[in-house]
Amino acid sequence: MTAITEADRGPHAPFQAQAGVHVVPLRTPTLPPATHTNCVVVGDAERVVVIDPASPFADEQQELIAWLTAHGATVEAVWLTHHHADHVLAAHAVRDAFDAPIHAHPATIERLRGLVEVTGELFEGDFLEFDGLTLEALHTPGHARGHLAFRDRGSRLVVAGDLVAGQGTIVIDPPEGDMADYLLTLARLIQEGVGAIVPAHGPVIEDGEARLFEYIAHRQQREEQVADVLRSRGEGKAIDLVPVLYPEVPAMFWPLAARQVLAHLLKLEAEGDVHRPDGSTGAPGAPVYMAPGGSARPDAVFRWGR
Ligand SMILES: [Zn+2]
Repeated sequence: MTAITEADRGPHAPFQAQAGVHVVPLRTPTLPPATHTNCVVVGDAERVVVIDPASPFADEQQELIAWLTAHGATVEAVWLTHHHADHVLAAHAVRDAFDAPIHAHPATIERLRGLVEVTGELFEGDFLEFDGLTLEALHTPGHARGHLAFRDRGSRLVVAGDLVAGQGTIVIDPPEGDMADYLLTLARLIQEGVGAIVPAHGPVIEDGEARLFEYIAHRQQREEQVADVLRSRGEGKAIDLVPVLYPEVPAMFWPLAARQVLAHLLKLEAEGDVHRPDGSTGAPGAPVYMAPGGSARPDAVFRWGR
C-alpha cells in the first residue's frame, strides 16, 4: 500500500490548509457538481483527529488509511460533522485500522443507528488541544439538526462540514434542514469571528467572513423572491413555485429545489407571513436529499398572509 501522491490524484491531492490542518479529498456519492468530500485531519506530530472520513469506496478508504499511516500520528478519534452518507462511510475503516473511537452529536448518533457505530457523544464546547491549536466543537444546526463544525480557537479556522460549500450548494431539506436555524448559525459564526473555512466539498475559502455574508444575503434574497411569488399568486405548493424561482435548474432537480422553497415557506410561516389553509403543521412531504425513494412526494398548499 502506498501513500496518496499528488501525481495520482491531481486536483484531489491532499493538501495542508494551515499548520496542523490537512485536507484529504475522498471520492464519494455526493451532490453534483461535487464529486469528493474533504476528510480533514487536525492535530500535531503526536495525535490527530480525523473529521468526516467519508468515502464508502474501498480504494479510497485504503488511500486514506495509507495517508494517515504515512503521517505517523496516533488517531485519537474520528469526529463526524453530521449523518449524511457522503460524510461517514469510512468511519469504521479508520476505527478498525487505528482503534479509534467515533464521536458525533447525539442527534447524529440517533440517525446513524444501524449504519455507523458511534461510540461517544460530542457537544458544543468539547475540545481537543494540540501543539499549536485547540479544536472545539460548535453545534451548528441548519443543514442537519445534529450538525457540528469545528473551530481552531487561535486562528478561527472553521472546519465547516456542510454549512458552506466550496463547490456546489448547501441543501436545506426540512425537517432535518431548518432555514431559520441555518441563518442563525451563519450569523453566529460571523459574530464570534471566523478565519478561513474548510468546507466539506471544494477548495478552502480563505475569507470565511465574506463568504458567510454572501450566503446570508443570497438566502435572504431567495426568501424575498419566495414571498413575492406567493404574494402575487395568492397561494401555491412549493413545487409550483420552483420553475419561477429556479428557471436555470433542470427538471430532474425540481424535487430537491422544492424542498429548499419549502424551507423558506416554513420560515415565513413561523414568522406569520404565510399559512396553510388546510391547517396542517410540521414539514409536509418527505425529505429528498440523501433520502432513498422516489421523488413524487406529497406537498402542502401555502397561502400568503395570516
Ligand atoms: Zn450533508
